[in-house]
Amino acid sequence: MNEPYSSSIAFADQRGQVADDLPQLMRSAVLVAPGHVEIRDVPVPRPGPGEVLVRIEAALAGGTDRKAFQRGHPQIPMPGPFGHRYAGVVAAVGEGGPDFVVGQPIMGVHTAPCLRCSMCAKERWSLCPHVMRDKVLGAFAQFLRIPAHIARLNLFPRPARLSAVHAALLEPLACVVHGLEQIVWRHVERVLVVGLGVIGLLFAQLLPRYTSAMRCGAGRRKRRIELARRFGLDPVWEVPAGEPIPADLRRRRFDLALECTGKVEGWQLAFDHVLPGGQVLLFGGLPKGTQWPVDCTRLHYEEIRLIGGFHFGPQDVLKARQALLEGGLDLDPLVDACMSLEELPEVMRRLSASEGMQYAIAPG
Ligand SMILES: [Zn+2]
Repeated sequence: MNEPYSSSIAFADQRGQVADDLPQLMRSAVLVAPGHVEIRDVPVPRPGPGEVLVRIEAALAGGTDRKAFQRGHPQIPMPGPFGHRYAGVVAAVGEGGPDFVVGQPIMGVHTAPCLRCSMCAKERWSLCPHVMRDKVLGAFAQFLRIPAHIARLNLFPRPARLSAVHAALLEPLACVVHGLEQIVWRHVERVLVVGLGVIGLLFAQLLPRYTSAMRCGAGRRKRRIELARRFGLDPVWEVPAGEPIPADLRRRRFDLALECTGKVEGWQLAFDHVLPGGQVLLFGGLPKGTQWPVDCTRLHYEEIRLIGGFHFGPQDVLKARQALLEGGLDLDPLVDACMSLEELPEVMRRLSASEGMQYAIAPG
């Protein structure tokens, strides 16, 4: 906590701390039903024991939010609070809460494992049943109350040099780190990133930390293809929706395919383009109940490894945070614009129309 920060501490003892200018009401987004989000006045929550109240400076609206808005999402109940990628400053700390000070810039994620269940004992933290059950949503609001178990494990100081918008990328970056940590990197010489949205472009930027392999990409949109090239993927093939795969890509095979489309076609393309002995990381989740027929001959006789990639564990969060603190990631191109909270319905419309890939919301 060596960074300078302004604070307005009303009291700071065993009872906790609270900013002296904390209002009674705030503006907060509610995801009412598919295609319908409202901004409402709701009470500003007060932190209970161990909890931290964050004044949101930036929350990110991206692919997960678009999916939830368009078709519902198994992990985002409706009607309910909306938004899960955030950064801000501490507005209040509950009794016995973490060692933060009101006004201090912070960054964090919206989940934490219980550290007590059988999955946590196996260090499979992303599979802890509490991770999704006890998460916090509601980052599209002026304030967000972070539950004690998350505040304790996955809420961190944020150096003043790291902007709130960049810091809010901690969550997707942790997911990407988790995916990369699952790969067996020995003898990986050629990698294909399938899908060049925010996740694919984060993979492109983190890959050199894990491998010196040749790194390639396949995507749909020209601007993202240009970004992928800037981030070191070469070659990058344009694969427009509904059109045949370019002949040059059809001939190629890779040791590793990182699937980031969340579409069956993307899963298939990734599977079709790995070599015998290859690995496929299936990162982009498909709608509940989706079935995907696999060529079992290839799966068996070519010993292809299909790897599910979901969420992250505490170690992944720490590595992702370290990457953000080090700098060197080119994050501005991954955020199309910064909008106000009142403009969230417009942001969701744009995301639904594939206008841009991710927006920052500044609730002000
Ligand atoms: Zn657990």
